[in-house]
Amino acid sequence: MFASLGVNTVQDLLDFFPFRIDDFSRVQRLRNLEPGEKVTIAGKVISVAVIPSIRGRALRVGVSDGTGICYLVWYNMPYLSKQFYRGQQLVASGKVEWRRHSWEMAHPRWEETAQLSPRDLIVPVYHTTAGLNSSTIARIVREALSSYAHLIDECIPAAITRRQGLLSQKQAYIGIHCPSSAEMWEKARRTLAFREVLLLQFALLLMKSQIETVKPAAPYTRFDLPQAFLDALPFRLTNAQERTIHEIRDDLCSGRTMNRLLQGDVGSGKTVVAVWSLLAAVANGYQGALLAPTEVLARQHLQTVGEFARDMARVGFLSGSQSANDKRMTLRQLAEGSIDILVGTHAMLEPDVDWARLGMVVTDEQHRFGVRQRLRLSYDSDAPHMLVMSATPIPRSLAITLFGDLDLSVIDELPHGRKLVRTQVIEERLRHLAYERVRQELAMGNQAYVVCPLIREGKSGRRSAQEVFEELKTGYLRGARIGLAHGDMPRDKLAEQMQDFVEGKTQVLVATTVIEVGVDVKNATCMVIEGAESFGLATLHQLRGRVGRGEKQSYCFMISSGESGESAARLKALEKLHDGFSVAELDLLERGPGQFFGLKQHGVSEINIQDLGVTEDILYAARHEAKPLVEAFEQGDRPPLQLSPLLSKVNARFGNLLMHARSR
Ligand code: ADP
Ligand code: MG
Repeated sequence: MFASLGVNTVQDLLDFFPFRIDDFSRVQRLRNLEPGEKVTIAGKVISVAVIPSIRGRALRVGVSDGTGICYLVWYNMPYLSKQFYRGQQLVASGKVEWRRHSWEMAHPRWEETAQLSPRDLIVPVYHTTAGLNSSTIARIVREALSSYAHLIDECIPAAITRRQGLLSQKQAYIGIHCPSSAEMWEKARRTLAFREVLLLQFALLLMKSQIETVKPAAPYTRFDLPQAFLDALPFRLTNAQERTIHEIRDDLCSGRTMNRLLQGDVGSGKTVVAVWSLLAAVANGYQGALLAPTEVLARQHLQTVGEFARDMARVGFLSGSQSANDKRMTLRQLAEGSIDILVGTHAMLEPDVDWARLGMVVTDEQHRFGVRQRLRLSYDSDAPHMLVMSATPIPRSLAITLFGDLDLSVIDELPHGRKLVRTQVIEERLRHLAYERVRQELAMGNQAYVVCPLIREGKSGRRSAQEVFEELKTGYLRGARIGLAHGDMPRDKLAEQMQDFVEGKTQVLVATTVIEVGVDVKNATCMVIEGAESFGLATLHQLRGRVGRGEKQSYCFMISSGESGESAARLKALEKLHDGFSVAELDLLERGPGQFFGLKQHGVSEINIQDLGVTEDILYAARHEAKPLVEAFEQGDRPPLQLSPLLSKVNARFGNLLMHARSR
């Protein structure tokens, strides 16, 4: 069960951090409360009842602390009533309101206190998986911590720990898993967040300095081929595309190795820039690679590149699902140099792939690739030019910090005449209106996406893809051809479902965020996002970018369960905002920068930086501290002794990057 959370070793377990604490330690007396306050109360259960109300069946649990009574209320979750009994001691946290002569707290967090010692009043909350709840995880992690605390090494140089006011690593692990106060937990979290960012920054800066010392590429001199490609396009480039191509051209002529991040909102036309770059390599006698994160995207790119560059270059394809024969043939042609441009998935990163003269690597939708892969790519071949494309708009200041090793180009303009996606936040009870529109769109021969926050039912009350799929088949969309795609499917099944939708064999695709990236189905004009408040604004914007890719007017409905007015207002911002950078800035204010790392959020197979609540000041501080470390490392033949714990941590995290780099 732990494996499905990405936890395989004791170290993984220790690194499986709680993303939140419930602090029941500051209990308030009921007679001192103010309406609207967020508080923790403690008392004894005096009544348990399920009664009808306008918002559905309400479970009301009366709790008395001797100074007053507060009702804990849950709507439409009558099965919870089994967990309460009269005389039970509990603590509950939430917002209190004064209603009908008594206090009420809707959907509070709560714990039974009979089972808790006073120290346990600060409860760490972990991400969970089927069959493994947060309190079980907490217990197992605590046990591991008491037996394996010696595994924790002090990988941060002492001077930095002191300067930044951090805890020691050992204290930090104890503080995050077994906090004795909210302050301690915060400090532990800051320490670990700082460490994660420092490791990442160190690795990135080191990689940059290594790349710069690798033998530089010969300057490119010929641009006739890519120019011919531009001349043949059926549209004019936007100014932003022109500018970006200029920046890349300058890099290629400079004799330095290009290492550039290209950011552009969904639909801004990054592919054209990619093809231009690949053809520039071909014109100068090199091979180009176009690397996509999924099979579906790779095939889509193959088609596009094939169309654009048919007479200009020999295009090959490589992916994990190919037959051994096809693969062998492609590999042979690649090694002989009879393929100019190879489109494919990470299969092209395998060690058996031999290039005749690789000169340009374009990586699409890079945030799907972990840092680890990016590092590997740049080292496995002889310093090719690198162009990394991302549709996650990141505020510029932040991008420089996060992707410190890359130069930055931005396409901040959409092609002319593109219609904005009409966006509407819809309350749960009017949900049928959204599907009404879907039906109309299908009747006109268009396609639709339905996005859900979960794969299977959880107890959270949010809708799952499986559930919505069943519901639509027999309900609102009866008779339509509906597909289902989510991350728990076998890879080939998922690819098949996506492909069926791309080819129009299915009309509706019910999915989780697996469709987030890069899929281009011009015929899809409608998207319904269930449980929209489960997603960050930037993710919602990304999702919305899957529709409105053709000439037709498109629609996006965000279903809001509307528990709080706050979250609906947050969603409503997207009705007016259509530019990814504005959305990103809003999101940055809201959720902090952690999400932009684009690394896997749960589990520890990648850095779980989002859960550590990285803030902008941590980013800047860590980058500031990382620079002199890299310089110290670069001087002399051997890494300074006090850096070796840090180095071994970086190696463990990013593969044997440093050894590899130094052996050149
Ligand atoms: P993304 O940046 O999201 O990868 P694409 O490269 O897939 O976007 O481009 C989206 C669509 O816009 C494609 O169909 C592409 O052919 C078209 N396109 C790209 N550039 C222009 C342009 N300057 N004018 C009109 N259409 C364009
Ligand atoms: Mg794209």
